Amino acid sequence: EAQALEAFRTCPSQTKDGAALEICANIGTPQEAQQAMKYGADGVGLFRSEFLFMDRDALPTEDEQFEAYRTAAETMAGKPLIIRTLDVGGDKKLPTLELPHEDNPFLGFRAIRMTLSHPEIFRPQLRAILRAAAYGDVRVMFPMIGSMDQLREAKALLREQEQTLQAEGVPTGPVKVGMMVEIPAAAVLAEEFAKEVDFFSIGTNDLTQYTLAVERGNAAVAHLYAPEHPAVLRLIAMTAQAAAERHIPCGMCGEAAGDPKLAPAFVGMGVNELSMSPRRVPPVRKLLSGLTMDECRQAAEKLLHP
Ligand code: PEP
Ligand code: MG
Repeated sequence: EAQALEAFRTCPSQTKDGAALEICANIGTPQEAQQAMKYGADGVGLFRSEFLFMDRDALPTEDEQFEAYRTAAETMAGKPLIIRTLDVGGDKKLPTLELPHEDNPFLGFRAIRMTLSHPEIFRPQLRAILRAAAYGDVRVMFPMIGSMDQLREAKALLREQEQTLQAEGVPTGPVKVGMMVEIPAAAVLAEEFAKEVDFFSIGTNDLTQYTLAVERGNAAVAHLYAPEHPAVLRLIAMTAQAAAERHIPCGMCGEAAGDPKLAPAFVGMGVNELSMSPRRVPPVRKLLSGLTMDECRQAAEKLLHP
């Protein structure tokens, strides 16, 4: 089995009839970028930046963040590295930031909602990402975007920091800007959002939770948690279609992206980048290389209209 998969570490990611795909890895530390490379990922589709902020007494400095992002970028050796800006709140608490108790933390002050109100946290992260982009194909992605205003505000802050760094004479690189589609509102308005970003990445973990009103990780309702629910899938299909119409890539970085029962259907819907835990990369690449685009479309049809 290990040997049979060896070939799928290095072969190009494509369907049987040659449609190009990207099979990428999700990572949570710069060291895991080595795993992404070892398993032959086409890039990092999601670098969760939370690790830098958790389990410590002080916020990471801009320089500390820069070192972490640069290390990951250098390890990826020119392959894309999508860094997601801080996504805390919800179930993940920031030890350095005392926030009021929330009855419904998953509907509360998390991710982009928190960082937009705390520019003293957001700005150094954006600067570190821009600086790391001098060392590889670094892209930035905003989590939990639910309105156009949030996206525009985040983009403006990024551009402002880019100009500031350039005025300071600090080297930066070009950074593509993407957003996670993980709130149903973002999927419904995907046509509008697609005009304002360079790429989408669908977060099925949260998109499932918010579409079905089923808390992720709550054992009492685990039987209702279903990324394969046709309502979730139709939002995914809408998002991928909007991306295709604007000629921007549509990725996916939730757990479902690496699920062999669902991955072909996602490709059939037009998702062209799937990001998963590094060791899932070769088997999913193998699976998709054995299917034509038509077969993937049929798989999508079956699940969308059961
Ligand atoms: C998601 O919501 O699908 C996702 C990838 O983000 P996280 O699991 O970190 O919330
Ligand atoms: Mg999420």
